[in-house]
Amino acid sequence: MTELVGTCLACKKDIYCLDGFLNGVLTNEKEIYCFNCYENTKNDEKNPQN
Ligand SMILES: [Zn+2]
Repeated sequence: MTELVGTCLACKKDIYCLDGFLNGVLTNEKEIYCFNCYENTKNDEKNPQN
């Protein structure tokens, strides 16, 4: 079963739930990211470059 959960906040890619497995990441803030963008946000938090 494939269920559309939402879209990645960063790249607007559709995120689906496939047989109970989310092909993205739902954060504690209820934000949805694909794996690529989630990795990017994680890195940004770990290594702020501002
Ligand atoms: Zn994305």
